Amino acid sequence: MMFRWTLALIPMFANERNRMTKHFIPHLLVVLLAGATAHAQMSASEPPKRFNRVFSWGRLTDEDTARRFSRIGVTDIQVANNEQLALARKYGMIPYCGTFTPRGPHGQAMSSEEEKHFAYINGLDLKGRPSSEKNAEIDKRRLERKHRYGGEPVASLDTINSVRIPCFGSDVDYTLSRKSIDAICSRVDGVQGIFFDYIGYSNFKGCYCEQCLAAYKAYLTEKGLEDTAKHKNEFYRDRLVTYCNDMIGYVKSQHPDFKVVIHVYPTFLPEPLYGNRLKADFCGQTVAWYFPWDAVKIRQYTRVTVMEQDKYFTGARGVPFVGLNRRPGSLWVKDAATLDSELRTILASGGDTLMVCNGNDMIEPGIDKVFATYCGVGIDSQGQPSDNK
Ligand SMILES: [Zn+2]
Repeated sequence: MMFRWTLALIPMFANERNRMTKHFIPHLLVVLLAGATAHAQMSASEPPKRFNRVFSWGRLTDEDTARRFSRIGVTDIQVANNEQLALARKYGMIPYCGTFTPRGPHGQAMSSEEEKHFAYINGLDLKGRPSSEKNAEIDKRRLERKHRYGGEPVASLDTINSVRIPCFGSDVDYTLSRKSIDAICSRVDGVQGIFFDYIGYSNFKGCYCEQCLAAYKAYLTEKGLEDTAKHKNEFYRDRLVTYCNDMIGYVKSQHPDFKVVIHVYPTFLPEPLYGNRLKADFCGQTVAWYFPWDAVKIRQYTRVTVMEQDKYFTGARGVPFVGLNRRPGSLWVKDAATLDSELRTILASGGDTLMVCNGNDMIEPGIDKVFATYCGVGIDSQGQPSDNK
């Protein structure tokens, strides 16, 4: 960490070299190294700061839930009706409607190998079996295939779970997508923005339906390019980015005051951290997934998310996203100690905002204390999250 931090500063100071003597620069680096070491030592024992804004994908189901979300420092949350809107306001949270997911005339098409994998991990052949038996078999298959639920795969072949994402690229005039956004935005009066999710590819690479393949062919011809993996990846990345930004633009055209919050999901394998290309007000990029990621990766991803947030759009805010699950099954159950360590790493890497899903797991006893420590007021004398009020 210290090494990387110092290296990152060298180009900045190199611009100043005309005003610095050759003797001054080595001294400056020694001072920087010492400062960075002290910073790293402080981070190891105590986080230097706390998250000042926390986006939750949970639900305010009742007064008690709202109070608990508020206590652990949640500031931004989705609401589905007027009751939830009132609870969000009462407990000082910013309400959003949601969730917009992509629309298209048909589902995305994958390769035959990917289709087979998708059918297998989703138990499409198990129709008619009792649900407990079916779910147990699906869990078994997902564990066997090292399924990662739309996050970066660890096996050579993985696809998204459950949902067949519509081919948004084939909604050429955006009729279906705009209609969906209009419906979501008018659901609850008084919201201050909208959440976006699932804007991506079911196989994490692209869609191979007739329309998408034809569009790719036209793209190559128009630009005079060869059919290579690099060009294919850029085509599908740009198709994704353009769609997402056009949808954000549409929301803003209809509701100029709305903020757009997105979780970049599922992963786009050729460029997992492409989120800074999106002009969302708050762009959640995964820095810690539902499954264990090592601290080096969490640190690197947090830095790109936060430090490169303005690379393409001024004002877009990169938000470190953390996956959290507490229900047993094929999705790993994250314990409080792991969550604690992840939040410390994110804070020490420059993150000061946070996004979490599954949001409802945030308020589970034990887990709530971790969030209260790094996002809320803290822990009271009884060892419970303190009240913000
Ligand atoms: Zn398609």
